[in-house]
Parts: sequence; structure tokens; C-alpha cells
Amino acid sequence: MTAIDFSKSVKSALAQRAAYICANPDCRCLTLTLAGDDVSKVAYRGRAVAVCGADGGPRHDAGMNGNQRKAIDNAIFLCTKCAEITSRNKGAHYPATVLRDWKEQHKRWVRANLNLRQEEPVQLRLVRAAALRIDNTASASVPLKRHK
Ligand SMILES: [Zn+2]
Repeated sequence: MTAIDFSKSVKSALAQRAAYICANPDCRCLTLTLAGDDVSKVAYRGRAVAVCGADGGPRHDAGMNGNQRKAIDNAIFLCTKCAEITSRNKGAHYPATVLRDWKEQHKRWVRANLNLRQEEPVQLRLVRAAALRIDNTASASVPLKRHK
């Protein structure tokens, strides 16, 4: 077996500590949302990924024992897409040092953003950007009037 089977409590604590947001600093997507109109159902796209995988898995560290591999310290919370990308080629492009750095950055980011308002909605940003362009175009095309 190449994947680490984290316990339910480790997976749950890891997801909560990450605020259900992917810990890849270039991703940070939400992994949990309502599924359709049924408020009792959610769509969940998060994964507990092993920083150092099992024998034959990504980033295997022969110096770790089974309990260390299954510990929350050896897990990072990622969206399903980032989980897959970071595990390709046995994690060759995403070494353990990178994932540990992401996890640490994410921990600080979550703490720093607790109870803070997130960016304004994309549509509102687009409207503001369009309004700014119109203002700039208008002012650039209007000839300056000189008072005599
Ligand atoms: Zn992600």
C-alpha cells in the first residue's frame, strides 16, 4: 500500500485546522460547499496528504515508523487537484520540505485571516475595473481647456 490511511480524527482535525482551504499557497481553494439545494448535503474536495508517504509512495522516508507516518504532523490538507499534482512521480516535484513549508505558511495565513473579510466578489471587482478604465479613457480623450 502506498497511501497513508490517516484516521478519521486526524483527517477531521487537519481539515479544521486548515479551515477547509487547500494549503497550497498558489491554490487556497475552498474544499467544502453545499451540494445543490439539499442543505443536509455537502460537496467535499479536500484530502489529507502524507508529507512522507509509505514505502513506494510519494516522498517516502525510511527513517519514519508507521505511527509517525500516520500522525497529523505528517499530513497536509490539500484540495483533490493539488493532492494529485503533488503525488505524481512519487512527489519528485514536491519534496517534503516544500509541503512542510506550505503547511506552516497556511497555518499562519489561516490565523491571520480569522474573522477578516475576504476579497470582494469577482463581479464587483470587474465592475470597478471597468469603471476605472472608462474614467481613464474619458479623461485622456478630453482635451485640456486652457483659460485665457
Ligand atoms: Zn489546491
